[in-house]
Amino acid sequence: MATQTSHTVLSLRGCSPFTKSSSFGLIDFRRCSSSIELSSLFNFTYCYIYPRNAYCTHSKRRSRGPVMAAKKESKGTKQGDGKYKHTVDLPKTSFGMRANSSIREPEIQKLWDENQVFKKVSEKNNGGSFILHDGPPYANGDLHMGHALNKIIKDIINRYKLLQNCKVHYIPGWDCHGLPIELKGNVAVIGSRCPKGVDTYKTESKSSQVCQSNREGTNGIFQGLVSRFGVWADWDHPYLTLDPEYEAAQIEVFGQMVFKGYIYRGRKPVHWSPSSRTALAEAELEYPEGHVSKSMYAIFTILTTPTKGGPIDEFLPKLSLAIWTTTPWTIPANAAVAVNPKLQYAIVEVQSPSPAEIPSSPEDKKRRIGSVLKGQDTPFLIVALDLIPTLEAKWNVKLLVKKTVFGSDLENCRYAHPITGQECPVVIGGDYITTESGTGLVHTAPGHGQDDYLTGLKYNLPIISPVDDEGKFTEEAGIFNGLDVLGDGNAAVIDHLDERSLIVLVEPYKHKYPYDWRTKKPTIFRATAQWFASVEGFREAAMDAINQVTWTPPQAENRISTMTSSRSDWCISRQRTWGVPIPVLYHVETKEPLLNEETVAHIKSIISQKGSDAWWYMSVEDLLPERYRDKASDYVKGTDTMDVWFDSGSSWAAVLETRDGLHWPADLYVEGTDQHRGWFQSSLLTSVATKGKAPYSGVITHGFVLDERGLKMSKSLGNVVDPRTIIEGGKNQEEAPSYGADVLRLWVSSVDYSGDVLIGPQVLRQMSDIYRKLRGTLRFLLGNLHDWKAENAIPYDELPEIDQHALFQLETIVKNIQESYESYQFFKIFQTIQRFAIVDLSNFYFDVAKDRLYVGGASSFTRRSCQTVLAFHLLSIVRVIAPILPHLAEDVWQNLPFEYTLDNTDIAKFVFESKWPQVNPTWLAFPEKEIQFWGKILELRTEVNKALETARTGKLIGSSLEAKVYLHTSDDSLAVRLRNRCQPKIDADSLHRIFLTSQVEIVSRVEDAPNENIAYSGEYLIQGEKKIWIGVSRAEGSKCERCWNFTAEVGSFVDHPTLCKRCHDVIADQPLPALAAVS
Ligand SMILES: [Zn+2]
Repeated sequence: MATQTSHTVLSLRGCSPFTKSSSFGLIDFRRCSSSIELSSLFNFTYCYIYPRNAYCTHSKRRSRGPVMAAKKESKGTKQGDGKYKHTVDLPKTSFGMRANSSIREPEIQKLWDENQVFKKVSEKNNGGSFILHDGPPYANGDLHMGHALNKIIKDIINRYKLLQNCKVHYIPGWDCHGLPIELKGNVAVIGSRCPKGVDTYKTESKSSQVCQSNREGTNGIFQGLVSRFGVWADWDHPYLTLDPEYEAAQIEVFGQMVFKGYIYRGRKPVHWSPSSRTALAEAELEYPEGHVSKSMYAIFTILTTPTKGGPIDEFLPKLSLAIWTTTPWTIPANAAVAVNPKLQYAIVEVQSPSPAEIPSSPEDKKRRIGSVLKGQDTPFLIVALDLIPTLEAKWNVKLLVKKTVFGSDLENCRYAHPITGQECPVVIGGDYITTESGTGLVHTAPGHGQDDYLTGLKYNLPIISPVDDEGKFTEEAGIFNGLDVLGDGNAAVIDHLDERSLIVLVEPYKHKYPYDWRTKKPTIFRATAQWFASVEGFREAAMDAINQVTWTPPQAENRISTMTSSRSDWCISRQRTWGVPIPVLYHVETKEPLLNEETVAHIKSIISQKGSDAWWYMSVEDLLPERYRDKASDYVKGTDTMDVWFDSGSSWAAVLETRDGLHWPADLYVEGTDQHRGWFQSSLLTSVATKGKAPYSGVITHGFVLDERGLKMSKSLGNVVDPRTIIEGGKNQEEAPSYGADVLRLWVSSVDYSGDVLIGPQVLRQMSDIYRKLRGTLRFLLGNLHDWKAENAIPYDELPEIDQHALFQLETIVKNIQESYESYQFFKIFQTIQRFAIVDLSNFYFDVAKDRLYVGGASSFTRRSCQTVLAFHLLSIVRVIAPILPHLAEDVWQNLPFEYTLDNTDIAKFVFESKWPQVNPTWLAFPEKEIQFWGKILELRTEVNKALETARTGKLIGSSLEAKVYLHTSDDSLAVRLRNRCQPKIDADSLHRIFLTSQVEIVSRVEDAPNENIAYSGEYLIQGEKKIWIGVSRAEGSKCERCWNFTAEVGSFVDHPTLCKRCHDVIADQPLPALAAVS
């Protein structure tokens, strides 16, 4: 419906009178502008990716005057006589449009390496030191997206601190004691340690050779990949948990804890893995879906009650306790039955239905009805009152309540042990006894369960655990001796009880059950003699220490507090073939451990020289201090090793306290959220126990990397994203192009890592688009500064307002970005910089600046003032993005057309020598009133563009320079300010320059506009309230051949009849035309 006749459009935002195609354009634009509003409103919390269409709204809609002219001419197209093309200052730079990252990034990394940039910058910086202590990942060479996320977050922080003038020391670490290495089975290559008891033990030198090959092998693979991410670290001096110095420091930590009384030996049920024959910590367990146990309802016959004539005596001797367990194999270790004193229990009579009444279901095949229900003479049972309906349904019987009592009434009743027949007590248990499942009476085996163990302590119950390392019953279990508790042993116990008419029902039971995280096999709870760190002894100090640490995100503090306040003593001994030994000798006869300052110091000094292998190959005599030598035959070496979490948890002592330039506590630890119960916690405990304080001032935790749909990555799903493929590209470069490390790093910066993060092809394509846009922004800046010299800078006070406003915006984002780095919220930086480059620069400032830069005259005020602003933008942007996009930033820096001098007159040859941009308070002090006015102008410009677009669609104009814009507003003060803008002191501030039109006129009344010329007009709302009328006509005068602006001046100069006054003046000032430069 575009017409030649004049019509008025009431600007209703949802209603468009235009043709379908142009209304699409408007809707797109509105979408984009509303997202700008939204995002500024919410400070960009929600808007992660800037809308794609925002990139192209301007360039697509508007044809550009001088740029088009010069470009066409440079290609030889006839465009006038091309007489002035050499006077147009087009951008030129050697900085490529394309990243060419597969070649350029390694070149830049080589440049850094050869010049030792990281080391030198760190040495020169004098703003204090910053220590981010690297957690030791398992050195098994399998690098995945989780590592990429972790290492890049760390590198972004370190690089930011370098720009902040800090000395940054970052020592990468590798955990070499973890089982993944053992399981790889490649002992000769990967580890230095000798399996215990292997006779043909390697010699010491052999062992260190192996250690060396591990260093070069595993560490090398990792280092190669991680450094390809652009991660700066002291790669030549990593720390390995199997370094002798490391192990010695760990022994020292252990010794300190012993002397403070925090280490003890005790018999206690621990998670035990029969498959790897060792105790496991909570952190080494996993709970896979689908575990099914055999659950059993059994009865224990009551023998006596505590008081004669008590409430239940009348049911004797036909009275039994009904219990339920999911681990029938623990019955031989039964020591008591526990009840909840506050619960009501019922004595019930079992009434079995006749066989005809029993409905059969498919479930029945898996169930085994016990002899209790099959027999004629069913005893009275005690069960929790609330559970009767559940049990009736499960057992398929009627339970007739004969009497009810409280749990407390049952205490000290005695029953016959179902296997040995010995008398055992009914005891009062804790709150863990509920009516959620089972019978409300808990079979208690203190040797096989934590709650049972604690109840056992109260009643001094025996800790029976007749199960060996392999998970087989021992002689103590009598007839079950030698049977596998998780296999035939379990079945044998059930059969045995059933023969004695003690089973009600056996059925499969699906529940969470702990598995060994490495062997993926089920574990058991088993009491063994172990070494413990008494967390109870320093729990309060640990809680205080947690309080002193800055946790990011803040909710992490809750997590670690809860885990620390509720955790039981830390079992630190393991029965492994690898690892650092618990440095204890035992007396052969008394079995008493020999552990004192003298022995620990002696063993530590041996390990610091020979490594912990020495423990296994040296004789007892040599391991004993002088004083004990002659009694060597009285002692044997202990064979326990330390929990691997004790190894890595000692890294603060082994690394922070021993290496030059480092300090304890570290400034920061950064790992995945799983480390709350792993490394963060073990480091905290060892540090608090020995030094009373956490080993870190701050902790950052991050989530896991999932695929684009939020699913866990797995080979079977085929959704694994490999960081190497992102950088180098896949086999099919169409599907998996080589994006380079910076695109990967940009992705890391874009995600809110405090939760789980997503990655996939779609996300990467978006990142690549944004990277290109940023690169384009920087290229524009470089290209237009090719002839720039610092001495050409125009003082701030003399700059046009548009430039002062631009510097205000620049300074504001630099300040915001700094705040976001300080709070480690990189996604805010990503959003800020993206919006700034697209909305503030590309769509506005650069768009307007091209006229001044290209045709304003090489040495003119208008161009130089603009270049002053561009130079500041270039120097600030390149530095604030450098921590995230170091290759891009360095590439820009190496292509800088001028030198950058530091305060101390040194020239910054590399971007990381340049330091963080200083905040300029003058720029930030741009008056509030002016900021608001510029806000209106920018919105007005958006509306004018819509009107121009309509005129262009209607073929009234081609380039926007062919238009004249009429404005009317009933807001008088706004009208005055706009009118002043039509003829400002400085040409660059003119409204027509800002709108990219040839003329703008402010009319007092709409009727004053020359109606016959105005083909397009409409009324628009500015800032949601001010109505502005906009009219568009063809520009007055003729087109200047050089700058394409229309003016009546064209034709008035005899020497240059096709030029406007501005161009005429430029030509006069510039007798020697600048060389044409088109890049
Ligand atoms: Zn001109």
